[in-house]
Amino acid sequence: MLTEEILCKQFGVSKTVYNYVMKIEEEIKEKFHQIEKIREYNQYKVINAMQEHRLDYTNFYWNTGYGYDDVGREKVEKIYASVFNTEDALVRPSIASGTHALYLTLSGILQHGDELISISGRPYDTMLTVLGEEGNEPGNLKEAGIIYKEVPLYNNDIDWESAIKEITLKTKLLMIQRSTGYSFRPALTIPKIKNAIEKIRQVYPDIYIMVDNCYGEFINELEPSDVGADLVVGSLIKNPGGGIALSGGYIAGKKVLIDRIANRLTAPGVGKEVGLTFGTTRNTLQGLFFAPHIVSEALKGALLFGGVYKSLGFEITPTLDEERSDTIQAIKFNNKDMVIKMCEAVQAAAPVDGHVSPVPWEMPGYTNKVIMAAGAFVSGSSIELSADAPMREPYVVYIQGGLFYDHVKLGVMLSLEKMMEFEEIKSKIHL
Ligand SMILES: *Cc1c(COP(=O)(O)O)cnc(C)c1O
Repeated sequence: MLTEEILCKQFGVSKTVYNYVMKIEEEIKEKFHQIEKIREYNQYKVINAMQEHRLDYTNFYWNTGYGYDDVGREKVEKIYASVFNTEDALVRPSIASGTHALYLTLSGILQHGDELISISGRPYDTMLTVLGEEGNEPGNLKEAGIIYKEVPLYNNDIDWESAIKEITLKTKLLMIQRSTGYSFRPALTIPKIKNAIEKIRQVYPDIYIMVDNCYGEFINELEPSDVGADLVVGSLIKNPGGGIALSGGYIAGKKVLIDRIANRLTAPGVGKEVGLTFGTTRNTLQGLFFAPHIVSEALKGALLFGGVYKSLGFEITPTLDEERSDTIQAIKFNNKDMVIKMCEAVQAAAPVDGHVSPVPWEMPGYTNKVIMAAGAFVSGSSIELSADAPMREPYVVYIQGGLFYDHVKLGVMLSLEKMMEFEEIKSKIHL
């Protein structure tokens, strides 16, 4: 009773909305078991990696200047390499974002005249500027003489047959984006990624394959690097930072490739040996320790959002029964006002900046205006509950994150309360 009271009195949730969400929760709860199983495995995987590398308290100290002999920094990278089952890793607070990590990877490996093929269709918005597919930013990959091609997905899967046909003598690297990004398709699952890599490797055993793993970490027991990817790349203010990491990005993969990328990050000959951590080691590792649990909370929350809006007749992706491979729940509203209301509600549920209202704005790196709701302890962190939508047809909201399921549930209730302003939704809830 107390819970219902605080929701109604303090947050303005009506009894109708409360009961409706509780009913849907009962229906989706059976799916929590699978999420918890994966969480448990990944939790042990992370602890095991920390023990294997004898993490100790003194590793959280940091130094100054070049950052030579920073044992903590080296352990972070070893632990990441173990978790992702790779030879080496580069994990740095100085990698400013996921996009930066991806750009660093591509520009570290590709040289003038090399070809890069995205085999998961059109990549995430910010990558288009990096590639030089949009805008004409100095330093983009097109300017550096890198040839770029795309192979669209076929039936929400990698079209590996077409990918094989597209590969030429110049092709050096294939790029796979695991997550939905701003498209309306389910994320590529580990079995799909595995199958495509195996098929391509039968013909081209030596071609490099990189996976943009953003939002995908700890969703499955396996990571793309467990099933043949040479490199996995992501952001620490998404899944693997567990809501605790303050900034950073990671790249895990084959040592020869990590060495090249490290030379790009700092300087040839200097590579991984320098780079101050500014005391972030403890946060980075505590975040990694939290990550499997936090991801499981976010996934439960995504199911609740999906369950509620599916029941109201909206198209969702992934569907409730589809295998999930990222933390994103996309809901198609076909209605601009609903999109804005949804983002306002997610903002209103936030522990930080809960009193402000998001508005669509021109974000750097994005072509359309974007509305973003996020009241995060770490600015821009999308492992914390956030909702965003590019202001374009068919008006899809992408909801992701949530450090705690209870918080996401509050977001669901507040969103539904706001949606009651729309007659078509109100009538369905009262049925
Ligand atoms: C978030 C994301 C990125 C990188 O975004 P940043 O905001 O730069 O961290 C790249 N690819 C995908 C699929 C993403 O979800």
